[in-house]
This record gives sequence, C-alpha cells and structure tokens, in this order.
Amino acid sequence: MLRLPSFTYLEPRTLVDALKMKADAGPNASYVAGGTDLYPNMKRRQQEPGTVISLMGIPELKATEGRKDGMGGPVIGAGVSLTELSVLPSFRRSYSAVSTAAALVSTPLLRNMGTLGGNLCLDTRCNYYDQGYEWRKSIDFCMKKAGHICWVAPSSPRCWAVSSSDVAPVMVAMGAEYRLAGPGGERVVPAGRFYHNDGINYLTKQPDEILVDVRLPATDGWDAVYHKLRRRGSFDFPVLGVAAWVRWEKKGRGVADARIVLGGVASYPQEIPEAAAALKDAALSDSTIERAAEAAFRPSKPMDNTDFDLSWRKQMTRVYVTRALEELRNRRGT
Ligand SMILES: Cc1cc2nc3c(=O)[nH]c(=O)nc-3n(C[C@H](O)[C@H](O)[C@H](O)COP(=O)(O)OP(=O)(O)OC[C@H]3O[C@@H](n4cnc5c(N)ncnc54)[C@H](O)[C@@H]3O)c2cc1C
Ligand code: SF4
Repeated sequence: MLRLPSFTYLEPRTLVDALKMKADAGPNASYVAGGTDLYPNMKRRQQEPGTVISLMGIPELKATEGRKDGMGGPVIGAGVSLTELSVLPSFRRSYSAVSTAAALVSTPLLRNMGTLGGNLCLDTRCNYYDQGYEWRKSIDFCMKKAGHICWVAPSSPRCWAVSSSDVAPVMVAMGAEYRLAGPGGERVVPAGRFYHNDGINYLTKQPDEILVDVRLPATDGWDAVYHKLRRRGSFDFPVLGVAAWVRWEKKGRGVADARIVLGGVASYPQEIPEAAAALKDAALSDSTIERAAEAAFRPSKPMDNTDFDLSWRKQMTRVYVTRALEELRNRRGT
C-alpha cells in the first residue's frame, strides 16, 4: 500500500489567512481542496509539499448559485464539490454542459470529495509520470519530476503531459471567467487564458494564487454540450473531451458564433478556431457539421502517453465533434 509522507497540515478559515500561510511556508507548500488529485500524487512522490494548506474551511469558496456578477450568470465557488455541481437544479437546467462534465468525472466517491477548483487546477497526466516512485526511478524519472528527458518525445525540450480535466474544456468553451486571490490582490482571468500548453507549467496562475470562484455568462441565446471518450464509462479520465458552444442567431436558426474546445489531447484545453469558423454564420446542417468535425480533426494531435492507440484517438475527434454538434442541433430542434 502506498503511504502519504509526513507533512504539516494547516486549516485556514479565511482567504487572507490561507494566503499568509502560503507566504510563510514558501514554495514547499501546496493548497489542497478535496485532495483526490494531490494526495495520490503525494503517495507516488510526484508532489512532495512539506506543508499542505486546506481550502475547505473557507466559506467564500463554497458559494453556490444566487450571486450574479458582471457576466450576468451565476458565480460558483471553487470549493463546491463535483457532486453538488452535477445536481444543482439551476445548473442542470441552464448550464447542463457543466453538470454533465462534473457528473462524468470518475466515481461517486471521488465526486463527493473532488471540487470544481481542484478539477480546474488538475495536474497534467502521462503514462510515464502517473506511476509509483520505484517505477519512475527505474526509468531514471522524466523532466516533469526529478529527471531530464521526456520519454514521450525524447528530443523535445518540453513536457507533453495531458490536460485531463473534464470541466476545464467546458469553462473555456463557455467563456467563463476565474477570480483569483493572491498576495497582491485579486484578478479575474478568462478561462482560456488560465492554461498553458506545457505539461509542467500548465497554469498561468502563480503558485500562491487561490482560485476563489468561477463566473459564468448569462444564458441568452447560447447552448453548450460536453462529450467524453474513455475506456471504462464508470471510472476513467478522459482521453478525449469535446466541449461545443454555439450562440444561435437571434433571427433564423443558424449559428452566430461558436467555440469548440478539446480536452485530453494537449497540455491545455485546446480551442480549435478553425472548427468554430466552419460553424459561424451557417445552419447546423450535416455538411456544416462535417466541415467543423474535419477542421477539429486536423489540429487534434494526441501523444502516445495516455490510454488507447493515438491514431485511433485522433480519428475519434471527428466522431465526437460530430456527436456534440448533432446534440446541439437536436436540442435546438432544427
Ligand atoms: C481514480 C481517479 C479517477 C479520476 N478521474 C477523473 C476524471 O475522469 N476526470 C477528471 O476531470 N478528474 C478525474 N480525477 C481527478 C480528480 O479526482 C478530480 O479532477 C477532482 O475534481 C480534483 O479536485 P480536488 O478538490 O480533489 O483536487 P485536489 O487534489 O485538492 O487539488 C488538485 C490541485 O489543484 C490545486 N487546487 C485545488 N483547489 C484549488 C484552488 N481553489 N485554488 C488553487 N489551487 C487549487 C491543488 O493545490 C492541487 O494542485 C480522478 C482521480 C482519481 C484518483
Ligand atoms: S510528457 Fe514526457 S516529460 Fe512529460 S510527464 Fe510524460 S514523459 Fe515526463
């Protein structure tokens, strides 16, 4: 059985206290929410913080529904569990892509513990990295932790570990905003600018910053869906996620604007502008959907570091984008 190393555990009750504790503890400290990503990583010695600061006692991170902000939609606290997110009636009604993605994460136990914030900050994944210490030592580690080489692309100067969050692609597709609190104050960043295409530095957030809440746009004439490919439907991480968002034309039944975002194929949720361009100002006909799926297929370049054959995963991009757009069309009733 893998055991946790010893560490100091702190439980702040306010954001200010949490930021101060992090500043005092320095780079050797890590925030934790539900712990369903951090603790397994600590057991495998992928992450080894000497101090762990729990965010779960901070009421501000637990806000659900009710509050609205400049985007006109709900504000949801980063500490809300995935289970809550998947059953909130207002979300199931008006933000069903979010509740669907949350409901598709892993198992009920992990969704009860796992939070929205932890999911949006989830560590990137790779078959050569998500292994126990002895396994990684036997290959002399890799550049994401303790080593010098990338075993997926040995001549590459960067890490290609995969963004494996189910909810992040939906937030990017919907144009959500994240509120961050840091030592220098607060800032709000668009979800699409929160992620880097780099398996090691996969977030633009500073290590001290806390993701406080997520702001969603008002529901006015748009719709979004999420489709996920994985081996075991009851358990596994996505090896491909497709979040599709469209704004319908005010008059007529065409698409005024669109965003297609892929999860599980790059180190960040990858927006595909070419696919969006194929949808814009067009009716969601079979041929439009085919063009958009083809446009998404070309830049979808999964690496050989998760489950399934990579060329098959690439092929599935076309299939899953088609399914997502067909679902949007069916919901619209066109
Ligand atoms: C067997 C298994 C299967 C899984 N399957 C899936 C899956 O299918 N899809 C999926 O998306 N995930 C999956 N996960 C990963 C994980 O369970 C979820 O992503 C979960 O939402 C993580 O949330 P958490 O609160 O437990 O994160 P934690 O482990 O607490 O934190 C994760 C990271 O985020 C940081 N963090 C957390 N909250 C904040 C915050 N508010 N501000 C700043 N930093 C923060 C932590 O410092 C840490 O680095 C799986 C995990 C396991 C063990
Ligand atoms: S992509 Fe390369 S560097 Fe990154 S975790 Fe995998 S093997 Fe390591």
